[in-house]
Amino acid sequence: MMMLPRKLGEACGVCGIYAPGVDVARVSFFVLYALQHRGQECAGICTGDGRVAHIHKGMGLVSQVFNEDNLRWLRGDLAIGHTRYSTTGGLSLTNAQPYLIETALGPLGIAHNGNLTNTSSLRRDLLQRGVGLTSSSDSEVITQMLAGAPGDSWDKRIAAFILGAEGAYSLTILTRDAVYAVRDPWGFRPLCLGKLNESGWVVASESCALGTIDATFVREINPGEIVRLDDSGVTSWQTEPARPSALCVFEYVYFARPDSLLEGRSVHRVRRAMGARLAQEHPVDADIVIGVPDSATAHTIGYANEAGIPYGEGLIKNRYIGRTFIQPGARLRRRKVALKYNPLPDLSGKRIVLVDDSIVRGTTSGPIVALLRQAGAKEIHMRVASPPICYPCFMGVDMAKREELIAGRMSVDQIAAHIGVHSLGYLSLEALRDIVAPASNGHCEACFSGEYPVIVRHESDRSMFQ
Ligand code: SF4
Repeated sequence: MMMLPRKLGEACGVCGIYAPGVDVARVSFFVLYALQHRGQECAGICTGDGRVAHIHKGMGLVSQVFNEDNLRWLRGDLAIGHTRYSTTGGLSLTNAQPYLIETALGPLGIAHNGNLTNTSSLRRDLLQRGVGLTSSSDSEVITQMLAGAPGDSWDKRIAAFILGAEGAYSLTILTRDAVYAVRDPWGFRPLCLGKLNESGWVVASESCALGTIDATFVREINPGEIVRLDDSGVTSWQTEPARPSALCVFEYVYFARPDSLLEGRSVHRVRRAMGARLAQEHPVDADIVIGVPDSATAHTIGYANEAGIPYGEGLIKNRYIGRTFIQPGARLRRRKVALKYNPLPDLSGKRIVLVDDSIVRGTTSGPIVALLRQAGAKEIHMRVASPPICYPCFMGVDMAKREELIAGRMSVDQIAAHIGVHSLGYLSLEALRDIVAPASNGHCEACFSGEYPVIVRHESDRSMFQ
């Protein structure tokens, strides 16, 4: 068996719920279900009833990990949940989250989205202090750092943790009588707050999850903010002086669901704006504009509207293939892509603009172009709604190593020849900056520019600690 090929690893989804009298495990299940696009390798929920904590986690989709039997045992008024795509730490059940340990202050559960950039030194410190680690995940490092941080309350320990941690972390934390939400001072990964019925509160990686449980969006958690949900309601405070914020711009390009809000704006609208700007920067005469489903749909509509060329479906995606299927043979990438996409027959003789949100390794674009040629396309002009990806990510996105990134080793013309298109155009970095800039005072765009918002000390490797 093999994982269905995706050009980018996802970024993990987290949630936290405080809701007395509510089946918090079931609510967490639905929130994680809505965040499934952020990671499909593992899922877990941890609940607390004011005395003890309960946990269930496993490998697979949310719907595969949970059922009526195991949800029934997850009792309490507090819950955190996680859906995982591995970044630091590999694919195994020991890396599944949440992590749950017993501490001097009672149970401590952690769900983490992101990647610390100083994991090596933090890990070394913990091991030298005699703390045993059971997994290769930086999220376990976070758990142990919190457990051993100075302070007689979780408020103080979380503040102390933030001083020692570098990199990306959107956390939900379960303690004996509160759920915390914490966002790193750069705000790499999203996290938002919602109101759930009279006295309940929920935090989730993306606002799209709130509608699923009839919660009302309240606001996004600020970079460097700690939010505590307990019987006093919502208490929040800022821990660090404001830094230039660095929300991952790839959340806009690809990760976030189009029906989510980021920095107060609709992701769908931002993607349409990217597509429109792409049409201005790289116009071409064509008969139809089609997108690579589903992640490039909004960009494609934006391109077609701006270019005045009809938008149409050209590739039909098999939505029932799931995340695993029988390996068709190591060298048959074209076959793998054909299992996932099928071209419509009426593309024959057409000049096509093919829009995708990004090109990472370039190993999927070529086979898709070959499928369109097979279907009789006369010309194929590829347009990419983000700049060339030349640098790896160390902040929680399993992108690729530098040498695997096609734009890191080939020019645009060489890539066009490699994937077999008549022309290729990328959105410029300046245009991307213009589109996202009004929302905040900064974004991470390091995979395009090589300018990392934090010090990167080593080439991160997901198997480094295994
Ligand atoms: S390097 Fe790219 S993918 Fe990683 S956080 Fe920055 S913008 Fe996002």
